[in-house]
Amino acid sequence: PPDVETLGRGTWTLLHSIAATYPEAPSKSQQSDLLSFVKLFSRLYPCWVCAEDFQSYLGREVPRVQSRDEFGNWLCGAHNEVNRKLGKPQFDCSRWQERWRTGWRD
Ligand code: FAD
Repeated sequence: PPDVETLGRGTWTLLHSIAATYPEAPSKSQQSDLLSFVKLFSRLYPCWVCAEDFQSYLGREVPRVQSRDEFGNWLCGAHNEVNRKLGKPQFDCSRWQERWRTGWRD
């Protein structure tokens, strides 16, 4: 299996890419699919300590799946929580779309 860092980088790429392509105005069934995906993901993620902490985060911060920007910001907050735990810098969540969807503006 990949090491925890390689697995993590690939997984964040997948998760933020899902946020980036999620509709701005999702249907009820798209919202329930995303919520189910996040919950199942948290039980299947193959780094068990990571998965446990992520599940407890889900219990404290309910995933916001009402729109692309709501979910992207929620996911950014979840990623920042892991960054904090690992002593990595906090990411500015107002720029998540620039990083993962539109490309950096400067
Ligand atoms: P990563 O954190 O993998 O980030 C990749 C890129 O995402 C960054 O280069 C940056 O451009 C961008 N980015 C950074 N922060 C944000 C943000 N908040 N929002 C949007 N984009 C951002 N590792 C452990 O050692 N212990 C754990 O308990 C643990 N739990 C994890 C839980 C989950 C759900 C996931 C997906 C990963 C977890 N990891 C854990 C792995 C860890 O988060 C990193 O992926 C790994 O340490 C590699 O870090 P990195 O510095 O390459 O950047």
